[in-house]
Amino acid sequence: MKVYRDIRLLRREIGRLKRKGKTVGFVPTMGFLHEGHLSLVRRARKDSDCVVVSIFVNPVQFGPNEDFKEYPRELKKDLALCKRCGVDMVFVPGVRSMYPEGFSTYLNVEGLTEGLCGAKRPRHFRGVTTVVAKLFNIVSPDIAYFGQKDAQQAIVIKRMVKDLALPVKIKVMPIVREKDDLAMSSRNTYLDRDSRKQAASLHKSLKAARELYKKGEKDSKKIISRMRNLILAEKDAEIDYIVIVDPETLMDVKKISGKTLVALAVRIGKTRLIDNVILN
Ligand code: AMP
Repeated sequence: MKVYRDIRLLRREIGRLKRKGKTVGFVPTMGFLHEGHLSLVRRARKDSDCVVVSIFVNPVQFGPNEDFKEYPRELKKDLALCKRCGVDMVFVPGVRSMYPEGFSTYLNVEGLTEGLCGAKRPRHFRGVTTVVAKLFNIVSPDIAYFGQKDAQQAIVIKRMVKDLALPVKIKVMPIVREKDDLAMSSRNTYLDRDSRKQAASLHKSLKAARELYKKGEKDSKKIISRMRNLILAEKDAEIDYIVIVDPETLMDVKKISGKTLVALAVRIGKTRLIDNVILN
């Protein structure tokens, strides 16, 4: 496994492989890797000749009052995990090489980025699409892997790829959960024991949504109300949003019929967590 910090060197090596007809699978991450990330890596390993993982805590996708500085970083352990999963190349760029002085080119997907997480994090997706487009441009992957955990992100990336005719296939992999069903996230490390217990309300409410739907409830308002009650029963929980939306357009669904996304963002104390399920 080779570790690259330099864009040119990584590009040169990938170019060499591509000329030999090798396929490249790519997993972009912000590091502090867990089984969620590794599920994407394993899938890439199955699909492609060469697996590239990027580890970059992207400052541009964090708001001014968000956790860019505190975001957990553990490069040594990440590299060991990558190696164990059969990764060929890890790209660990510095902030200056991704954002050279005078950087002023941003990519924005309109509409889809305005609701859900975009409502409270107004520049977040602009930062995500900008960095992902740049990473695609550097890595030239045949397939890139994203997690359903960040449902809106995956939808936005797919839109970007379609709109700009980027020559990459996007694969979205299922949410990997802890034993107690909490969706794995690097940010779970912020949760102390008590918050962690309260965080269980997120997936409990999603489970309740699924059960209500299975029993015949189609009215989104009623399902959301039940979810809200379950979450607000926790003392430190503050709901950012709970939505029931079309999984492609992210438009609100009032009466559930086809495939539908139930998504939420909740703060437990200072920690903002997201999770979702797909109905149907
Ligand atoms: P991050 O490092 O948080 O930017 O995540 C990198 C990629 O891993 C994104 O595509 C995430 O959606 C995906 N990911 C993060 N957590 C999970 C999880 N629990 N299950 C599946 N994929 C995940």
